[in-house]
Amino acid sequence: MFKNVTLFALAAFILTVGVVSAQDWRHGIPWQTPAVVTPGERLGAPPSDAIILFDGTDFSAWDREWLIEGGAMVAPERGNPARRDIRTRQAFGSVQLHLEFASPAEVTGGGQSRGNSGIFFGDNRYEVQILDSFENPTYYDGMCASIYKQMPPFVNASRRPGEWQTLDIIFNRPELRIERGADGARDVVYVIRPAYVTVFHNGVLVVNHFELKGSTFFNRPPVYEAHEPKTPILIQAHGSGGRVKFRNIWVREIPDTNMIPEPNRPPFIQRGNEEIPLPPPNPR
Ligand code: MG
Repeated sequence: MFKNVTLFALAAFILTVGVVSAQDWRHGIPWQTPAVVTPGERLGAPPSDAIILFDGTDFSAWDREWLIEGGAMVAPERGNPARRDIRTRQAFGSVQLHLEFASPAEVTGGGQSRGNSGIFFGDNRYEVQILDSFENPTYYDGMCASIYKQMPPFVNASRRPGEWQTLDIIFNRPELRIERGADGARDVVYVIRPAYVTVFHNGVLVVNHFELKGSTFFNRPPVYEAHEPKTPILIQAHGSGGRVKFRNIWVREIPDTNMIPEPNRPPFIQRGNEEIPLPPPNPR
């Protein structure tokens, strides 16, 4: 008898699950159709909606010219007055950015003086460090792919000096409310939403949705400073550490947050052609 009761319960359970799985939940949110984007042929190649910043041929996307050597862009030698940081002409908010870099094949110096550069968002405020971190100890939050002086990479995914490496960065811009100071008074900056950064180094996730604490100064604690919502992206021509090469640089503009439209109707259960309203949610 017990066995029969068990079987009956099992059958009822299966039947119930069957009925439940024949219906699905509709939240009533009018999602937009996600755009079709053709992925690049090889990993790291720009997809169809990418804005090309450097494809090996020219500096039209930048505010100045560095040198082009073997299809790569590289800052002039140390001591050359033209060795200056390079900024995009276009201003960007939140982006997915891809770039490839190679540290100097000939190793000179050590620590922060070996292949130092950096990619900056917020126009020289938020640095993802570029460094030759292959068997080159330095402070962890100054290693390659760190958020400079704020967050070390999870792992050191560096390739050898001279080898091409990739950085893929997701930067979500901060939302700041700025009260402009009167003459001589400082601006007051309110952080409505901090910036977030995610970094893949050579395809390896090394920084995951890190909440930026503010500008990545090297000589003082981070603090958010007033800046426009959209700002140039900058590549650092560091004063020391040899000449870092760059190639295949592109960005895609992305939404600042996961913006979900308001529902345009109450949620419901769809069962065949039948729409069954859901009870209102419990008040919180
Ligand atoms: Mg740097």
